[in-house]
Amino acid sequence: MIRYKQTRQQSAELLRLALAQIGQHDAAANPTTYAVWYEYVSGTNPRLSADIDKCLVAEPRLGDATVERLYREHIAEIDEATAERVRESFGRVMAELSQSALRTGDSANAFGERLSQLNRSLTQADAPLLSSQLSETLASTEQMQSSVATLQQQVTRSHQEIEALRDELERTREDAVRCPLTRVLNRKGFDQRLRAMLDPQQTTASSNCLVLFDIDHFKKVNDTHGHLLGDRVLATIGEVLGLSIRTLPGASAARYGGEEFAVLLPGRSLDEATALAEAVRKSVKSVKIKHRTSDAILGNISVSAGVAALRAGDDEAAVIARADAALYRSKQEGRDRVSVG
Ligand code: GH3
Ligand code: MG
Ligand code: MG
Repeated sequence: MIRYKQTRQQSAELLRLALAQIGQHDAAANPTTYAVWYEYVSGTNPRLSADIDKCLVAEPRLGDATVERLYREHIAEIDEATAERVRESFGRVMAELSQSALRTGDSANAFGERLSQLNRSLTQADAPLLSSQLSETLASTEQMQSSVATLQQQVTRSHQEIEALRDELERTREDAVRCPLTRVLNRKGFDQRLRAMLDPQQTTASSNCLVLFDIDHFKKVNDTHGHLLGDRVLATIGEVLGLSIRTLPGASAARYGGEEFAVLLPGRSLDEATALAEAVRKSVKSVKIKHRTSDAILGNISVSAGVAALRAGDDEAAVIARADAALYRSKQEGRDRVSVG
């Protein structure tokens, strides 16, 4: 996921824009509404933005139901405990902010009163009164300055807290679609990306490909060297796949099942996908894993692959079946090879 590291000024501006949107719509000001508008004004969630723009045509002031739906469909991938924590923190931030704003408002009122008294004395040219009022006004100015400074500090702290919350939300959302062992997407993440690759509204490229990989004789690795070393092999393959797509925009690697992996290649031709599968196969062959407890080194790991290009009218099952059939052929023909479906 692209992470936008905003400067404080940018994030203050985004906060301001998000709060302005909250003010223009009917949905209650709460963390859910805030998250929806923050993502909208920051432009980091194109699907959400497109959906909001569509909703605004029929519903110029978005209400609670719409905002909740937008949140659920485009943002929420968080568990109830995280959601509760975010709600609490947001509530606290807002309460502190409004407290400070109230205090500043009180000082500003007092300050305004002093200024008009001073103005009256100036026009009446009442020298003794003027002198005492000048000192009082000076004191009010100082008080006002300190209130404004407190509010500024409060706003800065609130920005930091909101930014931390946002990072936490982003992390939780990412964790929900990532395999902790191999660091590539999990099955859920894979399903989402494949669906997106099949969605004509999101896919403009004329050629999109899927590659399935399956580790050869992996059961034997586990049986001979133990499950823990098997896990390290899986983690290493995840790393190889991650590296193989590093320079390809939009590509993603996923753990499809136990010892099966997948790579999604939007905008890539069948030839490019086959070349990538071949490069992965070669890299895996050169992997050497050292036993933690002995000097023995495990090599000779290999993968078989099946490549398929999306065809018009394909659904998820159809393209997976074609890649799977190609993978099956690789296994049948002796493993450690790439076949095209
Ligand atoms: P083939 O070349 O035909 O693919 O043979 P294979 O042994 O790789 O295939 P098989 O389907 O018989 O066995 C897959 C093995 O993968 C069995 C299972 O224990 C192992 N496996 C699946 N998930 C994990 C995991 O998370 N960790 C470890 N260590 N092993 C796993
Ligand atoms: Mg398998
Ligand atoms: Mg296998």
